[in-house]
This record gives sequence, C-alpha cells and structure tokens, in this order.
Amino acid sequence: MATRNVVKKDDPILRKQSRVVTKFDERLWELLDDMAETMYADEGVGLAAVQVASLKRAVVVDLQDGDGLTELINPVITHEEGIQYEIEGCLSIPGEYYETIRPEKITVEYDDRYGEHHVEDIDGFRAVCYCHEIDHTNGILFLDRLNPEPHDREELEERARIRRAEKAAQQQKG
Ligand code: ZN
Repeated sequence: MATRNVVKKDDPILRKQSRVVTKFDERLWELLDDMAETMYADEGVGLAAVQVASLKRAVVVDLQDGDGLTELINPVITHEEGIQYEIEGCLSIPGEYYETIRPEKITVEYDDRYGEHHVEDIDGFRAVCYCHEIDHTNGILFLDRLNPEPHDREELEERARIRRAEKAAQQQKG
C-alpha cells in the first residue's frame, strides 16, 4: 500500500467522467488500498479514484463513526428523497468548507471489490458523503451543490454536534 498524490481543484481531470470498472482484479484492489491509505493520511471521510488521477468509478468512505471502511465500485444512486443541509469540504479543495443541499435519503447500487452487486438504503451524513463521492465519478464538485442561501453557520455546527452525540448514544446501546 502507498499513499498517492491528491489532485487539486483546478486540475481538469476532476471534471471528467470516470469509466465503469469491468475487471475486479489485483490492479483494482491495489488502487482501492492506496485510496484508503491516502484518505486516512489526509484525514478525509471519503475519496474517489479520480482524486488520485485514476478515471475508474471507485470510491472509498470511512465516516470515522466505528462502521469502518466502505468501498463502492460503479456506484449509482437509483432513488433520492427529501433534502438536508450540510457543511462539506473536499480533499481536492483544501481549506474550503461551504453549505450544500443534498437528498436526505438515497438508494445506492454498487459492486464490491469482488464484483458482487449490492443495493442499500442510506440516510443522514452517510448519504451526504456518498453523494459527494459519486458526484466525483461524474465530474461534479461539491462547489456545484452549494446552498445559495446558507444557514447560520453556528446553527449547522450545533446540529452536527447533536448528530454526533446521538450516534455515540446509539452505539453505546449497541
Ligand atoms: Zn471531494
């Protein structure tokens, strides 16, 4: 495993469409391992392959909430409902954090690293993160999803604190 360089905001590769993965082989696994290592080294919660200059439809996510690493290959959002507001950042756009509008709930279909197909219903912050990373596979940045009338930042941060506390309480209940 090795970390790879993360491409930054003005690199035109970030605007390209990534390609469907058809080979679930050791080259893919090496890419996924390197993506995870790069994400952890930069203290991110998600990373798409295009951010390390590979145009494969592959994403890694770890919300640091105890649920561990998720790998999404060829992810597609097949259903979305509701809206939520969140402050997002991006490892390719360091130091910039803005409020976005995202769906509250999504259904996502994806393959795992062995090519097995999965369908999952996702909500809350995990849905925000999946949307952000899946956007990357389509050449879209979170800067394209900004709320034109952002909330008071303190209010949002308070909500994020409550969300984390609720999550921690849930985990304690087991
Ligand atoms: Zn990003």
